[in-house]
Amino acid sequence: MQEFWQNYIDGAWCDGGAGRIDVQDPGTGGFLAEHALADASDVDRAVRAAERVHRSRVLTDMRPIERGRMVQEMGRWLLAHLDEIARVLTLEQGKPLWEAVIEVKGAALYFEYYGNQASTVEGKSIPLGAGYFDWTVNEPYGVSAQVIPWNYPLEMTARGISAALATGNTCVIKSPELTPLTNGYFARAAEAAGFPSGTVNVLCGLGRDAGAALVSHPGVRQIVFTGSVQTGIAIATAAAANVVPCVLELGGKSAAIVHEDADLDAFENDIRWGIYFNAGQVCSAMSRVIVHESLREELVERAAGIAQSLSVGPGIERAEEGANMGSMVSDGQRDRAAGMVQVAEAQGARVVTGGRKLNRPGAFLEPTVLDGVTSDMTIAQDEVFGPVLSVMSFHDEAEAIEIANSTNYGLVGGVFTRDLDRATRVAQRMRAGQVFVNEWFAGGVETPFGGYGKSGYGREKGREALWNYVQTKNIAVKLG
Ligand code: NAD
Repeated sequence: MQEFWQNYIDGAWCDGGAGRIDVQDPGTGGFLAEHALADASDVDRAVRAAERVHRSRVLTDMRPIERGRMVQEMGRWLLAHLDEIARVLTLEQGKPLWEAVIEVKGAALYFEYYGNQASTVEGKSIPLGAGYFDWTVNEPYGVSAQVIPWNYPLEMTARGISAALATGNTCVIKSPELTPLTNGYFARAAEAAGFPSGTVNVLCGLGRDAGAALVSHPGVRQIVFTGSVQTGIAIATAAAANVVPCVLELGGKSAAIVHEDADLDAFENDIRWGIYFNAGQVCSAMSRVIVHESLREELVERAAGIAQSLSVGPGIERAEEGANMGSMVSDGQRDRAAGMVQVAEAQGARVVTGGRKLNRPGAFLEPTVLDGVTSDMTIAQDEVFGPVLSVMSFHDEAEAIEIANSTNYGLVGGVFTRDLDRATRVAQRMRAGQVFVNEWFAGGVETPFGGYGKSGYGREKGREALWNYVQTKNIAVKLG
């Protein structure tokens, strides 16, 4: 493991004006590496470099299919370095190595998908009658600021910058303090793909310093943020002050409604992936299951069985896909999740299994199942961001929908039933940006993703995300 990692500004690796930050290995609790810490002047240099590249028009004027080829090349570069990147990701974030491999491949997929779309961002001609010729074009904003969370540092960055670059923008990435190491690989990928120096800048800094400086910088023309509601509000406020658009993806308290005719054998897999993948640190985690009262006992038993079947330990020792889970990202996040379980118990929920930290160094929390959760409990309203499943029950369909919609969030939802009419009806009534029927996480890079309510606004993924990165220009010509 490289001992010291630098920021990347205007094509050069550099130290940070704010010194260095220690990166921990949450799988052991030990020191992993140091990373340069940017200050506001580093941010300013990065934004100016990205502005310079944008103003040169080199990306704007390039034939989009060529730009798209470069974007795709970044994905191929990541895959060519998969083993190295996955290892670093596991060590800094805590997820099992096989999950890190999935994340690197997922990141590469964004570059393939959006690289392919570069030449499809078409305008249109609007008829104005004889004597006029009118058309619209979609132009890049310029500098796109990307503020990244620690749970999927690679996929979140890839999701934003692949679409930003495909549409001809330049990027300044503020990598997460807890997991900054792997973001440096995007700089190397952009270099290898031939993007001019200054197109992609990657810096780590504290949110309140470098993050705040970036989102309020007058040279930034568009902002993408994934993380907490509180920070999202601060960023939207900064964006409003400069009148720039932003996309906010702020997490959720997403619910699966399990009807009495659901296939519980299949649903076991949804529990496994929905709440224990990445130790539950997933914005679209299936953190609530709202089950028909007739199935509650059986479902709770099955969920507890899955939780207890997972071998929990250092991600780096978990190379094979299977019944295992890594650490959480930090002791702080683990303690916060464990504290929320205690509060839930005090408020009347029953801890069926888990809820305690493991008696070993590292940020480990036992896979947890809570039964008897009701909407008035804190655990039913607030995002845990950990491996904690809350089971609630319902009597009829209307009540199930009411419970599902009873939080301030609205990211995703799920309906599990063999009745297509019911699935369709319930999906239409769920307040969520994406609804999965009979498989949690159904969909992919091709399907639009984003929240209702406090889960944020704007959409990532799919063709819809491309429109975050372009502004419409209309050109009307009076013919002679
Ligand atoms: P956070 O929202 O504070 O941090 C996310 C990113 O925003 C980091 O890169 C951080 O440096 C940056 N940031 C913080 N303050 C900023 C500011 N004022 N201006 C600009 N950038 C700023 O999240 P956190 O503190 O790491 O985690 C807290 C909680 O947020 C978690 O427990 C979880 O519930 C939630 N969270 C959600 C997601 C998600 O994917 N939706 C991801 C991470 C965290």
